[in-house]
Amino acid sequence: MAFRNSSLVSDLKCSVISNARLRCSCTWRSTRRYWTQTSSRTHAADDEITRLASSRRRPLTLGDLLRHGRPPLDKDALLASANFTLSLLPARLASRIQALRNLPFIVVSNPHVSRIYHNYLHSLSTLLPYQQRQITNLQEEKQFAEVMADLVQTHTNTIPVLARGFLECRKYISPAEVTQFLDSHLRARIGTRLIAEQHLALHFASQPISDEDPNPPPERRESVPSNYIGVIDTALRPERIIRSCEDFVGEICELRYGVRPRLVIDGQPEASFAHVPVHIEYIITELLKNAFRAVIESGNEREPIEVTIAAAPDVPGAHVREMPESGEDSSEADLRFSKSDGADDPIAHEAIKLSRPSSQSITIRLRDRGGGIPPEVLPHIWSYSFTTFSEDDLPGSDNGNLDALNTISGAGGNGSSIAGLGYGLPLSRAYAEYFGGGIAVQSLWGWGTDVYLTLQGVGKI
Ligand code: ADP
Ligand code: MG
Repeated sequence: MAFRNSSLVSDLKCSVISNARLRCSCTWRSTRRYWTQTSSRTHAADDEITRLASSRRRPLTLGDLLRHGRPPLDKDALLASANFTLSLLPARLASRIQALRNLPFIVVSNPHVSRIYHNYLHSLSTLLPYQQRQITNLQEEKQFAEVMADLVQTHTNTIPVLARGFLECRKYISPAEVTQFLDSHLRARIGTRLIAEQHLALHFASQPISDEDPNPPPERRESVPSNYIGVIDTALRPERIIRSCEDFVGEICELRYGVRPRLVIDGQPEASFAHVPVHIEYIITELLKNAFRAVIESGNEREPIEVTIAAAPDVPGAHVREMPESGEDSSEADLRFSKSDGADDPIAHEAIKLSRPSSQSITIRLRDRGGGIPPEVLPHIWSYSFTTFSEDDLPGSDNGNLDALNTISGAGGNGSSIAGLGYGLPLSRAYAEYFGGGIAVQSLWGWGTDVYLTLQGVGKI
């Protein structure tokens, strides 16, 4: 297949190789000069990255993702989803490459940070062949789905790898700079993964659609729970997720401390909305780890964690508030709700309609009797890498939390250690804010902590 951009792809690969060989303590500016002098081809790739990174990106909504997967999922819908995905990803990957390049060179030279940088270059190089052209048949869509699977797989371990890299570079970059970079990087990553995973999920749900049989009957399709559209559960009950996270975190506690705190759920356990289950799983797991650890370490493990679920009352025509933009530039703020976005765009219009139904918001309050957060700790809890978990408690101790890193994996970095990485609260807030929700922590020092998690869903579909 002859792609217009095939030379750029090899330029990018060339750029990956020449860059990997660079191990000198210079800045990216001089590195770029090096590229320009040594290879005009890598310079072309460099220009393409700059062009893509600076291209305008329309903020998207959860509604946009839902729109492409609505049943019946037929050939046209699948191709539309592939092209929609393709229209979003290259600019987002290029923007992350730029952001990594803007870090001090000594930080990007760290093998772990450099690995992430090269992962992004690799993923962009796999997408460039599709630039400037549409995916017009199912054969091309199948190849594209393989590219999406590769992208999702390549970036699976980004969080522990980056965390390790920044830990090793802590002499060269301040905690505030790390938090600023990680906050925008990990928020952007949430969107990139979601876009790729949504198309992949639709691809698998669409089987066995073929060019000959573009709309096969339901009985011949892969069985996907009827309430799912791609990775979005349109009838998600947070109470179910809370119970399964309670089991998981309870087991960690039993292994580590020999006790398993209790949890009571009240309020409106039957409340449901449309949301992304893996995001909520990540957040609830991290919040429960903090609460369980606090009650155990304060000797109050007999006091149950009280979880109250409240669905916002139906307010016809209520608007979802715009997502806060702290820590990210507006170009990174993809997949967010906004009442004014794309007013002249029919796709955006549909998304806006979807983002305004009744009872789309659910708030969960987690109340623990773990003694609260000391006033001197409170200002730091949202910083990546900040933890009060004692390193002496970790096997191998004085290695700067590297043991905690060894135990985390998976898309969100949900690990099997109770604490120690210092990513739980800031990353949970990034997930919650992504769709216009948020997290607020209220500490009653000497008594306990309340965490208010607000999640914006898409209400009744
Ligand atoms: P980690 O759990 O890895 O330390 P987090 O970001 O989850 O990282 O939390 C950061 C810090 O905030 C914790 O180390 C702890 O000191 C404090 N904290 C968070 N939640 C609670 C809570 N419910 N009770 C007491 N302290 C808490
Ligand atoms: Mg934690």
